[in-house]
Parts: sequence; structure tokens; C-alpha cells
Amino acid sequence: LSSRLPTVGTTIFTVMSRLAQECGAINLSQGFPDFNAEDVLFERAAHWMRAGHNQYAPMAGCLPLRERIAAKLDALYGAHYDVDTEITVTAGATQALFTAVAACVHPGDEVIVFEPVYDAYVPAIELAGGKAVRLRLAAPGYRPDWRALAAAITPRTRMIMINTPHNPTATVWHRADLDRLAALVRDTGIIIVADEVYEHIVFDGATHASCAAHPELAARSFIVSSFGKTYHITGWKVGYVAAPRALMAEFRKVHQFNVFTVNTPVQLALADYLADTSRHAELAAFYQAKRDFFRAGLAGSRFELLPSHGTYFQLARYEAISDLGDAAFCEYLTRDAGVAAIPVSAFFADGHDDKVVRFCFAKNEATLAAACEKLNAI
Ligand code: PMP
Ligand code: GLN
Repeated sequence: LSSRLPTVGTTIFTVMSRLAQECGAINLSQGFPDFNAEDVLFERAAHWMRAGHNQYAPMAGCLPLRERIAAKLDALYGAHYDVDTEITVTAGATQALFTAVAACVHPGDEVIVFEPVYDAYVPAIELAGGKAVRLRLAAPGYRPDWRALAAAITPRTRMIMINTPHNPTATVWHRADLDRLAALVRDTGIIIVADEVYEHIVFDGATHASCAAHPELAARSFIVSSFGKTYHITGWKVGYVAAPRALMAEFRKVHQFNVFTVNTPVQLALADYLADTSRHAELAAFYQAKRDFFRAGLAGSRFELLPSHGTYFQLARYEAISDLGDAAFCEYLTRDAGVAAIPVSAFFADGHDDKVVRFCFAKNEATLAAACEKLNAI
């Protein structure tokens, strides 16, 4: 068999969650909450199912949900997206990212990504026949190197994929970063894919710098988000993409033949739930308390904690504990210490290893406390 993705194995999130389960370890690897969403959300989903809303939704998504998304983008970012032509509901952010790439990248086009890079990006680029151009975010700060970005842009550059707040490094870009990016793509046809799935999870009083709030960038951007991350329902797999009409028209050409549309009663339930926008504002404090609890719990450990400015991830250096590479260390952690984490080398094409692992702190305090006890013991 001639593989379209010869170097791709099984995603690290599946590998580590499976190992955690096999070993009975506390799973701080794959990013998902171990607590439930609010009951009212389930009641609304059940309501719409019973009310007979169980057939295909419109291709772009249910109108009430698109209206709520548009209102949110307006309220939070001052961005005006047309409900009919500029917002599409997707089967999670993963599908939005994949479809945006498939719709816009031609064979031979270059797409710039920043490493460590979320593992879904490069396979999408390569399946489209594109070439991923990787720019490294260097440890420990994992900041973009603007000179390197300027040098990497060529006439073949079709797209730049960015992610803020950033998985796995928990860094966030600021408005000034978006200004630098905008200056570099000005006078080019480069499309930006802005993966903003952690948009509401930014800590210490900082605000999320959305490309949607940057008119110059918004004019060339797909803004991608995920209700899974925002409402503790990663298993529902619903997200959305917002983009100017011309980009969205291309997106929908692919979307209609990729998934066509997304789960109807769940979309309607989410539309009801989005009516209360205060939940967005509470999310940062909710996760900041978890971050602080987890960090305090590890303060006496031999892990060196890197800053976590956003997302629900915490990076930790383990050089004081072990000489192992990060993949081997994560296996040891899972099997022998009873806590699963993600090796950050999985986000680098060449396996580059900063001896750093990623913990997910989207967990109940009891889970985090039990994990800290185990991590303090090694
Ligand atoms: N992008 C990033 C940076 C992520 O961490 C994730 C995982 N939530 C996704 C995209 C995919 O999101 P979804 O589960 O909505 O497909
Ligand atoms: N985004 C999640 C993470 O980073 C994983 C999602 C998945 O398993 N594909 O852990």
C-alpha cells in the first residue's frame, strides 16, 4: 500500500490516553475535562431531540447558533461577521482546520507553521499536497522569531497557521504580535488560519488577542474555535469557523462534501446555552484556579514549571529527575509513577526534545491533588 502519510503514526493523544487506561494511571495527557458540563445543556439537547429536531441541519449550521456566534464575535472582538455567508458550524475545530486547508492549499503551496505544532496541522497540509514550512518557537519562552518568519515567506507561501493561546506551550500572543504578523503579510495573498480554541482561557488579567479583533488580519483569516474546550464537552465535537465571505465560500465547497453538516439537536442546545455570555467571562478564572492549585501542588517537586499564560496545559521540565528522552519519560511516568503526560517532542517533526512534558489541569481538584502526590514522590 502506498501511504499518503508515510511518516504518520497514531496521534500521541490516543497513544497516551490508551496507555494511561492500561496502567490505571491518572490521565493528565490528552486535553479534556474530567468533570461534567452543566445540566441545563443536556436538558436543552434532550429537549430538541424530543421536539423532533433530529434531521439534517442546514449545511452552514443551525441559524440560531450562527446568530449567537456572530453576536459573540461582535461583543468580544468588535467583529462583524455575516450570519449567512461568513460563519459555519463544524465538527470540532479539527474539521474546521482540515477543511480550511483542503479548501485553500494547492499542490506545491507552502504553509508556515510554528513548532511545537498541534499534531493535526501538518497532515492536513500534506494531504492537500502542500509543503509545511516549520518555524521553531524556542524554549523556554516559545516566542515567535519575526525575522525568521519574514525570511520564510516566499511567493509560494499560501497560508500561515497560528494558535493562540498555544497548545502545548501555554503561551499567548499579544496585540503587538498580531501587528507584526499583519505587517509581514501585508501586500501578499497569504491566508491566516487562526486556531483560537482556547480563546476564553487566558490568565492573569490578560485578554485574548483574536485575529477577529484585528481588522487587517481578519480580512484574510479563518478564525477557528471549539465548543468542546469552552463548555467542557470535547466529546460533542462541535466548533465553528468565521471568515470573510470569499474565503468562506471556498470553505463551504469542501465542508458540504466533507461532513455536509453537524449534529442538529446539539447545535440547537448550544444556541440556547450561548444566550448567557457570562460563562465565557468566568472560564478564565475557573481554569486559573486550577492552574494555581496544580502549580502549588507541584511546588515541592523536582519538576521545573514553565509559565502557563493560557490554555489548560502546564509544561514541566524534568531534567532534575531523569536523563530519559521525553517519550520514554512519559512512559515511565505513566507506568511507574501513575500519572500520564504528553511528551512535547510529539509536536516536532524531527522529534526535537526540550526534556519537557505537558500536563492537562482541566481536572477536579481531587484528581489534581492525587496526581501531585504521585509526582512529588518521584
Ligand atoms: N486545536 C488545538 C490547538 C487543540 O488543542 C485542539 C484540541 N481541542 C483542537 C484544535 C481540536 O479541537 P476539537 O476537539 O474541537 O476538534
Ligand atoms: N486537543 C487535545 C490535546 O491537545 C486532544 C484532542 C485529540 O485527542 N485529538 O490534548
